[in-house]
Amino acid sequence: MTSLHNRHINPLILKDLTGDNWRLADYVKRGGYSALRRILEEKIAPEQIIADLKASGLRGRGGAGFPTGLKWSFMPRQFPGQKYLVCNTDEGEPGTFKDRDIIRYNPHALIEGMAIGAYAMGITVGYNYIHGEIFQEYLRFEEALEEARAAGFLGDRILGSDFSFQLHAHHGYGAYICGEETALLESLEGKKGQPRFKPPFPASFGLYGKPTTINNTETFSAVPFILNIGAENYAALGKPNNGGTKIFSISGDVERPGNYEVPLGTPFAKLMELAGGMRGGKKIKAVIPGGSSAPVIRGEIMMETDLDYDSIAKAGSMLGSGAVIVMDETRCMVKALERLSYFYYEESCGQCTPCREGTGWMYRMIHRIEHGEGRQSDLDMLNSIADNIQGRTICALGDAAAMPVRAFIKQFREEFEYHVEHKHCLVPVSAY
Ligand code: SF4
Repeated sequence: MTSLHNRHINPLILKDLTGDNWRLADYVKRGGYSALRRILEEKIAPEQIIADLKASGLRGRGGAGFPTGLKWSFMPRQFPGQKYLVCNTDEGEPGTFKDRDIIRYNPHALIEGMAIGAYAMGITVGYNYIHGEIFQEYLRFEEALEEARAAGFLGDRILGSDFSFQLHAHHGYGAYICGEETALLESLEGKKGQPRFKPPFPASFGLYGKPTTINNTETFSAVPFILNIGAENYAALGKPNNGGTKIFSISGDVERPGNYEVPLGTPFAKLMELAGGMRGGKKIKAVIPGGSSAPVIRGEIMMETDLDYDSIAKAGSMLGSGAVIVMDETRCMVKALERLSYFYYEESCGQCTPCREGTGWMYRMIHRIEHGEGRQSDLDMLNSIADNIQGRTICALGDAAAMPVRAFIKQFREEFEYHVEHKHCLVPVSAY
């Protein structure tokens, strides 16, 4: 369970949350559902909402960072058949735990955001696909849905308007790959959760073969706040091309791990301060800034980097889902990579050979280095395997497995070489 810290900077989604004020009445007291009400009462044009989102600079908060307003504009609004809206609450990457807290502490922000999205894209049915390992949060979300239906914020003729939207929750069974949007759709259809070949993309061939828009939990949850404070004001919270606030899930060797919402562009050093600094006053060694698939960065570089898409890319990694894993000077980089590579090996769906076979090869080689049986040639071989996976698979899991391997070896090669040569770790054994 993560803790709810109230040390945020200009928070929107996490503002004023105490842990027990998640119900509809609390959300309405905080100004909730006012954006949806205004849209319906003033009959604001769907095109205007999409234009506002484009102006806000909101980018997908699930990892890819694709502009949300642009994505919404891809939905063929006039399509005569059923269209679907899907929320991806299937976060399962090591280090990532923000969506869980959103539906635990502020589920109505997500419901309102999805209802606004449905209105803007002319959609009448939506699903929230929730990771199978957060069952209590799934139950809470079901309760929140019931409240919203009873109050007329969901269902037929919402708030007396012509707009109807049915929203359902669905919990998965814990497979990481179902967070990939087309695997998620397959799973939602009751099939094995395996990614589809693309194109076609979900905007034209999505759930049950119908046009579908999929966004992340945090993305949808930001929408009501953007419309309430105004697109320009939201954009001004961040940096150009990096608008608004972002929830960072910080874990690892810090004093106060948890979720912190700060404007994009906030210095990483400031986030560390909010999180209480390094645990036990130890020295920072490495940071994975965007979920375990993001390339690792040396601690001293990260301390000089701002938390936004462009700055982190410039530092050689990705903002991804905003899951920041901090490692101190006592952490063994070989051990850390062994654990990560085992995760991807376990979670590969097995459809494509480079990923199915390559993730196993990489894990076994790193395992043998960690256990004193590595060879110097293993390091180049690992890079070669990673090269042959990246960009050669159906979905991004292949890249996600390859990137940490290349980055750990590039950034901490001396530790891997030491392990091979001395058959034990460079950091003191007492540190474990
Ligand atoms: Fe499955 Fe891996 Fe291929 Fe993705 S890259 S489809 S997880 S085998």
